[in-house]
Amino acid sequence: MKIIDGKQIAADIRADLKARAAAFLSKKGIPVGLAVVQIGDDPASEVYIRNKIKACGETGIRSVLRILPADILQEEAEYVVETLASDPAIHGVLVQLPLPNGLNASRLLACIPASKDVDGFSAENIGALAKGEPGTVACTPLGIMELLQRYGIRPSGKRAVVLGRSNIVGKPLAMLLNNADATVTLCHSKTNGLREISRRADILVAAVGRPRFVTAEMVKEGAVVIDVGIHRADGKLCGDVDFESVSKKASYITPVPGGVGPMTVAMLLRNTIEAAERQA
Ligand code: NAP
Repeated sequence: MKIIDGKQIAADIRADLKARAAAFLSKKGIPVGLAVVQIGDDPASEVYIRNKIKACGETGIRSVLRILPADILQEEAEYVVETLASDPAIHGVLVQLPLPNGLNASRLLACIPASKDVDGFSAENIGALAKGEPGTVACTPLGIMELLQRYGIRPSGKRAVVLGRSNIVGKPLAMLLNNADATVTLCHSKTNGLREISRRADILVAAVGRPRFVTAEMVKEGAVVIDVGIHRADGKLCGDVDFESVSKKASYITPVPGGVGPMTVAMLLRNTIEAAERQA
């Protein structure tokens, strides 16, 4: 069994990105710019935002954080996002999800043009992914594909099972794996016989948001297991996979922490720099 070292791969990618950001600055005279919009004060979102902003600073990306009150009107939030998106010194805009109740995420995200949609959540970018055309892809699924590629794991012809169909992880990942010629099954809370389906997977991805949901009985001997979940239990972090039992059966497995998580941030930085390079 091999542990997939997302932390190391993310560090390697970030070192390359730092050089790319520096090259952009010296060529264009302005730094790559990312605007982050936080609405409300969800504690988990605040941690994610802090990490993203810190990573931007370490990479040489200028970040601008706009914190808006939870009770802001939809139209006001849209105005802020549109204003940021129209600034030529801002190359990427992201709105941290989930939004407070009462705000329409789809309408707000629609205010970000596809060229600056570094999270890959816009209808245009999701449409491109669905058609297998070039576009910006959501950071977590993109990070997972990068991990597979760097470990020489080719999805082509393999049976891939994705547990969880969220718009930000499960669904786009299923499309990416399909585009890479895997045979994909996308499971969710209404799936019948989930254990049997997951047991047939050559590549099994857990993105259900339930601590240690995937146990050894659900995993085929020699499967590649990717754990997207992040949970805090008894003061420690754990994933959607019961690492201890599953790691005895898997050929490759991502740990939590140090697997998918660091890749998500690295892919956000890459999407932002690529957006800047395209706009320039
Ligand atoms: P989400 O929006 O809550 O979606 C969870 C999905 O799992 C849904 O599709 C749901 O099915 C399905 N599900 C829930 N219980 C299930 C069950 N018992 N059997 C089968 N399917 C079940 O979650 P998410 O945003 O995709 O995130 C998933 C996990 O990844 C969370 O722990 C989150 O914190 C973590 N995460 C990590 C990163 C990272 O960078 N590492 C990034 C994003 C998310 P229905 O659609 O039928 O409700």
